[in-house]
Amino acid sequence: MRKFLIGLRTSIKISALFAVSLVIIFAIVMGVYKPIYSVTIDGEMVGYSKDRAALQARINDYIEKENKEGIAFIQIDQKNLPEYKLCFLKRGIETNDDEIYEKVVATGTAFYRYYALIVGNEEKCYVETFEEAENIVNGLKDKNSNNLDSISIKEKYVTNRVETTDKDTAVAALFEEKKVNVEVAQKSKSTTSSGGKISSGKVGSGYKSAGINFIKPISAVITSRFGSRWGKSHKGLDFGASTGTTIKAAAAGTVTFAGWNSGGYGNLVIISHGNGVQTYYAHCSSITTKVGARVSSGQAIAKVGNTGRSYGSHLHFEIRINDVAYNPELYL
Ligand SMILES: [Zn+2]
Repeated sequence: MRKFLIGLRTSIKISALFAVSLVIIFAIVMGVYKPIYSVTIDGEMVGYSKDRAALQARINDYIEKENKEGIAFIQIDQKNLPEYKLCFLKRGIETNDDEIYEKVVATGTAFYRYYALIVGNEEKCYVETFEEAENIVNGLKDKNSNNLDSISIKEKYVTNRVETTDKDTAVAALFEEKKVNVEVAQKSKSTTSSGGKISSGKVGSGYKSAGINFIKPISAVITSRFGSRWGKSHKGLDFGASTGTTIKAAAAGTVTFAGWNSGGYGNLVIISHGNGVQTYYAHCSSITTKVGARVSSGQAIAKVGNTGRSYGSHLHFEIRINDVAYNPELYL
């Protein structure tokens, strides 16, 4: 019995020693041989990576960095991104991380961001920043250009560089003399679309029947509610959505304004639904309807953007009854 116990104790000691040495050997081997990954792109074997994390970080950097000249972002097809498989402790394998990186980068498409100044439906000129576009619109406003109602700014992403125009050239090219026509002058005064000036409107409390049903102009999350915020009253409801998302008419009506508003709404669409009921769709990247157009409920009228006094791409939506803004959430 005693002998047996001693024997047992000895064998436990030996196994412990054996386990410890295994761990040490494993640690040494792992230190010497870092794990290597085999890499495939779109099912095709392209080589081996000695440092998967570093390689992927380089690729991510390439995709995300906005510092390249004028490039807004780079798109790489999901299928062209590398897939990694751990090759455990294979020896004598040559790694080619740089080559893999070059291969991935070569499939990327660069997108440049431009702002187009649009008159009517025509893209007249391009600038690189929204501020430049806004300055051109303001320049035309200062000169009281006749085409202010039909000017809008559109954010564009293109794969080729386009020629940009400086402010003075653009203002000179886009300026349109006011027609000396008394009738037209009087007429434009009486419509809401004159010079992009919009009544600031009052904020109503509670619910007042609009007599019509509204649908959500966009299916997106609410990012800011109606009511006071930052000590100011927010006359609408904000929906967060990416630039280019389609905005739909919340109810049937007639488009009474479609263009640039310098008061902060940016590219704005107003639809009149009769009986003093109006809906506002602000900060659009582009407008796909026109003043005077009859639209049905749910019809596409514009695209979400970040124009005017807006911080981040979203739709600002208002429901006004006799120019008093009511909480849209009570109607949707
Ligand atoms: Zn808003």
